[in-house]
Amino acid sequence: MSKTGRLIILSGPSGVGKSTIRDLVMEKSPIPLNLSVSATTRKPRGQEKHGVDYYFFTEEEFRTQRENDGFLEYKEVFGKNVWYGTLRSEVEHHLQAGRWVMLEIDVDGAYDVVKTYPDAITVFIAPPSLEILEERLRSRGTEAEDAIRNRLSRAKYEIERSTFYKYRVVNQDLNRAVDEFCHIIYQENQAGEKK
Ligand code: 5GP
Repeated sequence: MSKTGRLIILSGPSGVGKSTIRDLVMEKSPIPLNLSVSATTRKPRGQEKHGVDYYFFTEEEFRTQRENDGFLEYKEVFGKNVWYGTLRSEVEHHLQAGRWVMLEIDVDGAYDVVKTYPDAITVFIAPPSLEILEERLRSRGTEAEDAIRNRLSRAKYEIERSTFYKYRVVNQDLNRAVDEFCHIIYQENQAGEKK
């Protein structure tokens, strides 16, 4: 029987450098990875494209997917009636075909996915400290004070909630964090080969 693929779940607070790490790991991973594109009811930002960054759904489209059991998990991430969800169609056929899939989702979504896929490789990207995360959020210079406060309190929640992740990678130095992540994938693959 051929082997099924593995799921990699990447999470981390806003401002930690998650998307940069994700893109570099997708490029440098020792195992080819398929990135799962999530669905969301939030509006596109900047250059974001439907089907590439997210599937931008209306609330009704999102509800229909829910009712049709189209989601592996879904969450209202910032508690403001903005929904995010992992589509089964982005994940299941790849795993069945033996391909690896990367999900970038929040800690609560990750918790649910692990119930279905206990052997998922969970990686939490942590900042060197909350003070450094705050500095990084401020230096972007794009957000108002209350938005920064919100993101910091959400970051605290995510860090506290992240104890169930198998791996923690501290983003002190970008290249080192990417290397560490790729090494985790390499080791997990080696361990799987021996089974
Ligand atoms: P943003 O709106 O900045 O792209 O993402 C906000 C948050 O939503 C991030 O923490 C991201 O990881 C999370 N997120 C993106 N897609 C999903 C998803 O499909 N499910 C869950 N639970 N969270 C998601």
